[in-house]
Amino acid sequence: MEPIAICAECGGTLEKRTITHTQPWGDRLYRFEDVTALVCLQCGHIWLSAETTQAMDEIIRTQPPPRKYEQVPVFSLAAAIRE
Ligand SMILES: [Zn+2]
Repeated sequence: MEPIAICAECGGTLEKRTITHTQPWGDRLYRFEDVTALVCLQCGHIWLSAETTQAMDEIIRTQPPPRKYEQVPVFSLAAAIRE
């Protein structure tokens, strides 16, 4: 049994979930699927274990071939919020 985890941000209950996590690194984004994380049911904060972040750092550092590439659309908000 794992102890009930409490969110350090808001005191809410954390639930273990498998998520897709996007990690900015320099001017790039790295997307990781099948990430086990603790998600706060109250504020939505995502908590990643040291083991998880180390594994992601290792992938970013060694750049193995990714499973797939995704295109990400980029917008300028300045153009959208014109008077
Ligand atoms: Zn929280």
